[in-house]
Amino acid sequence: MAERTITLRRARTNNLADLDVDVPRNRLVVFVGVSGSGKSSLVFDTIAAEAGYQLNETFPPFARNRLPKWTRPDVEHIEGLTPVVVIDQRRIGGGNARSTVGTVTDTWTYLRLLFSRLSRPHLGESNHFSFNEPAGMCPTCSGLGEVVVSAVERFLDLDRSLADGAIRLPGFGNGGYWYSQYADIGTFDADTPLRQWSRAEREALLYGGRAAAKLGRKPPKEYEGVVERFERIYLHTSDSLSERKQDTIRRFTKAETCPECAGDRLNKAARTATVLDHTIGEMPRLEITELAGLVRTITSARVAPVVAALTARLDAMITIGLGYLTLSRATTTLSGGESQRIKTVKHLGYSLTEMTYVVDEPTVGLHPTDVESVIELLERLRDSGNNVLVVEHDPAVMAHADQVIEIGPDAGAGGGQLVFQGTFAQLRDAGTPTGRALARHRPLKLAPRPATGHFTVAGADRNNLRHLTVRFPTGVLTVLTGVAGSGKSSLADELLAQHDATVIDQKPVSTNRRSTPITYTGIAPAIRKLFARHNHVPAGLFSANSEGACPDCKGLGVIYTDLAFMDGQEVVCETCHGRRFTPEVLAHTVNGLSIADVDDLTVGQSIVQLPDEGIARALRQLTAVGLGYLCLGQSLSTLSGGECQRVKIAKELRQATRPTTYVLDEPTTGLHMNDIDTLLHVLDSLVEQDHTVVVIEHNLDVIRQADWLIDLGPGPGRHGGTVLFEGHVADYTGHPTPTCQALAHTESETRSPAGH
Ligand code: ADP
Ligand code: ADP
Ligand code: ZN
Ligand code: ZN
Repeated sequence: MAERTITLRRARTNNLADLDVDVPRNRLVVFVGVSGSGKSSLVFDTIAAEAGYQLNETFPPFARNRLPKWTRPDVEHIEGLTPVVVIDQRRIGGGNARSTVGTVTDTWTYLRLLFSRLSRPHLGESNHFSFNEPAGMCPTCSGLGEVVVSAVERFLDLDRSLADGAIRLPGFGNGGYWYSQYADIGTFDADTPLRQWSRAEREALLYGGRAAAKLGRKPPKEYEGVVERFERIYLHTSDSLSERKQDTIRRFTKAETCPECAGDRLNKAARTATVLDHTIGEMPRLEITELAGLVRTITSARVAPVVAALTARLDAMITIGLGYLTLSRATTTLSGGESQRIKTVKHLGYSLTEMTYVVDEPTVGLHPTDVESVIELLERLRDSGNNVLVVEHDPAVMAHADQVIEIGPDAGAGGGQLVFQGTFAQLRDAGTPTGRALARHRPLKLAPRPATGHFTVAGADRNNLRHLTVRFPTGVLTVLTGVAGSGKSSLADELLAQHDATVIDQKPVSTNRRSTPITYTGIAPAIRKLFARHNHVPAGLFSANSEGACPDCKGLGVIYTDLAFMDGQEVVCETCHGRRFTPEVLAHTVNGLSIADVDDLTVGQSIVQLPDEGIARALRQLTAVGLGYLCLGQSLSTLSGGECQRVKIAKELRQATRPTTYVLDEPTTGLHMNDIDTLLHVLDSLVEQDHTVVVIEHNLDVIRQADWLIDLGPGPGRHGGTVLFEGHVADYTGHPTPTCQALAHTESETRSPAGH
């Protein structure tokens, strides 16, 4: 008989503390716990990693190289695994400009099939409608829909003369390789600012050719204008480009809609054939809801299976609240939450069972009213016979779980244990960090802080915005709300375009693996001095590039082996076992800790155990944003998006010298209810330093604490884009809008004495 659970014994990945747990199969299981407690270490780094690793082992080595690489987890015993599918929030398609909502959901393939069977005139095979294939692609843009052209307006500084560096391109300045081709040919006046030249002279400089011939002074025969030369060297070349050249291209070119196909990506024949009076360029630009209605009117029996498959996919997208998107939308412009839901649609179409779906915070980017449809989606995955494991902080999702598993009790070394396993109702009485947080309730802000002034975003009509004029109060916390797709990000982008403001996003703090809290806060010299003081030896001894360093790995702790054409390997140095220093240096201690032990201290422990006020002061900026659980030696590249964002807030708290406007997009992502308190304190600290804070947020606890609320809607896409409410959150009552109803709903729920 098949085992009914996924069984783990003595899991030790990251902070997991010899964890034993039995996860029920064919159930919707939600993993909860404070941020950094070990949920991801269990679900992603242990269960998914082992399943992925074992599955890879069943493939021949050649195929294995093309599969995602899994690091085998540290766990003594694990059984009951099934093939795993990870649905995370990584953006789809990477930087691939050709990837659209249509291509990643396969709907574009079905649409092409429809056109190849039904189009007028008839063109034949479906590759005639594919922009990825020569038979269908627009010859001008190779199917990209965009062409890269010189951004000529950036080439010249009109206030300078050639001799002063009027040509901004590298290599064209005075003394540069190309300079004499312009300054020394006798055609141009090298000492007069370009603004004082005639238009014809400037044209000749840029474009050569006929413009140059028209000048009385005849340029040399083989004269090449600056634009011509730039395009020959940088754009019309098949040489592989160095990083520097690519950077130059980024600076001096721009993407423009292809002049031939106007962005439809297809050649003329494919562009003009129609089905139901729509071209294949027009159909993907319809909203999915509208497209589904249109496709349903196709009655031809010949294509019935295609129509059925296409409408099933389109309907699935509508169900999960993405009906406002279009198939032509580039996946690179989707938000993380939208990307994740699109990935889910793909799997709903499959009939595989006994899979393990591992889902990372599916409610990100979702208004409370949209969360219901996501829950439905997860339940459908389960009901088709799969294991569904979800890491989530939203109580609405926990409430639908067959079982809730809490990892904790605290973050980092204070977590990694199983603290609760049972139903949601039991969790509310469990007295665990999550159980207690569920019982608590954050009230509406009744005394909002007064604004110090305001600024206006005027005439905003980006994407779906309906020519809005919106006032933002300064010196307070403003929350921007509305269902997904209502226009919040568009309004925030418009704010950034019209005013001086800083985005605090969730992108990595540093891509350098050697960047740690120590390097980030700049306390390395202070630590070395502390050790020197306590042991009466020179501070230089504790530097990883001094004579105190392990001679074999030169203080790196690892040895890098280059394996020619295979991936390079990093192995822990056998001499120092990764401790980076000689035994003599390691014998010097502070409070019983060696210099290598310092790496394993958390930020919070360090403040207590390293007796130095300078070090403590620098580290407190991290505890202030709730990151006291990070280890000093932990690579910042291991931080989650939310953690990166808080590191950046810490930096602004320390560095910003004048009042600044900050814009944050869903800062509660990845945060446990307890950590949301910390976040609110941090945002308050920004406001107390006279800064203006604007956050896009769905979390009701944050919305309730707003000094000012701007609610957009009512619906997504063209059903949104208007302002529904501007004012104090306590005054937002009695409106039939999604946000107002969500606020009222939770208010009444918590006022009733028994929550369960
Ligand atoms: P959660 O998912 O509950 O927020 P994680 O499993 O991501 O927690 O992290 C648990 C602990 O393990 C944290 O202290 C975190 O800093 C640490 N950690 C996570 N990933 C790594 C890693 N790759 N290397 C070292 N420590 C890690
Ligand atoms: P929100 O932030 O409220 O979720 P957005 O401002 O991201 O909403 O989107 C508002 C509308 O504009 C949606 O219909 C969305 O599909 C559309 N949209 C957003 N970004 C783009 C883009 N880069 N190109 C085309 N449409 C976009
Ligand atoms: Zn084209
Ligand atoms: Zn070594």
